Amino acid sequence: MPLIPMRVMLDHAAENGYGVGAFNVNNMEQIQAIMMAATETNSPVIVQASRGARAFSNDNYLRHLMLATAELNPRIPIAMHQDHGNSPATCFSAIDQGFTSVMMDGSLQEDGKAPSTYEYNVDVTKQVVAKAHALGVSVEAEIGCLGGIEDGHGAGLSDDEVLEHLTDPEEAQRFAEETGCDALAVAIGTSHGAYKFKEKPTGDVLKMDVIENIHSRLPNTHLVMHGSSSVPRELVDIINQYGGELKESYGVPVEAIQQGIKHGVRKINVDTDNRLAVTGAIRKVFSETPGKFDPRDYMKPARIAMAEVVKARMISFGQAGWADKVPIVSLEEMAKRY
Ligand SMILES: [Zn+2]
Repeated sequence: MPLIPMRVMLDHAAENGYGVGAFNVNNMEQIQAIMMAATETNSPVIVQASRGARAFSNDNYLRHLMLATAELNPRIPIAMHQDHGNSPATCFSAIDQGFTSVMMDGSLQEDGKAPSTYEYNVDVTKQVVAKAHALGVSVEAEIGCLGGIEDGHGAGLSDDEVLEHLTDPEEAQRFAEETGCDALAVAIGTSHGAYKFKEKPTGDVLKMDVIENIHSRLPNTHLVMHGSSSVPRELVDIINQYGGELKESYGVPVEAIQQGIKHGVRKINVDTDNRLAVTGAIRKVFSETPGKFDPRDYMKPARIAMAEVVKARMISFGQAGWADKVPIVSLEEMAKRY
């Protein structure tokens, strides 16, 4: 099956009340882990690559890996998404590489660090929407700023600053109407990375009411939750049991994400949980069998560990079981619909 525009998948998810996990990749084994989980659960899936991932793996490798993925998994609808594009140029280069969806994150300036102005955000997002939609490619935008840093991208806001940069529902509505983006990442108190909350998040720090408010204003714009790993204790424990030194932290509870899905959240970004799974599995092999030195001896369990996490998310987000029901729409066809 060819890669399809993300919009098609999110529209289907909205019609049927489920969310789609967007999982970050940097290499072949991570892509394979996602596809193992998607095949096993019959799930449509979003595979995403950050700028850092594209630099690490090289666009050419990534492009051919994704083409191979589509070839090997003819029954699974896959959207290939640029995560956190920092400029129109980054998004355009992703489109040139065959990505079927791009995120123009104009909430930050081009350095990917300093919060930008509303006008700047509208301007760069509109530029990307114009070119992407003409080619049938979907566009995710962001309004408000998340905490933490992801692959060098992020304002690095403190806990208090995060609460000052939450998405303003009225501004979100104006922004989506002005830009015509397909999906909108909103800041509701989540942060990128492994250290999201010092204690189990409550309604004071995780603003699900903001999601509900935005969704009521923008029923046709798909909402995106970033920084939505759950940071499961058992994955952190495995890493620390085998010599790791991760501090205690709390992520976004899966139940909070499920609540979001009831109110318009259609794309959920998960990266940290998979990183934890991979690292734990590799540490375990190194620690228990220090004589091993064939990369397959630890990459294979790492791949399985990540597939297990992805599978669990696919089931809890509700995307499991839908792969063969998502309509297959080409980029050309999608371009005509805009
Ligand atoms: Zn993000």
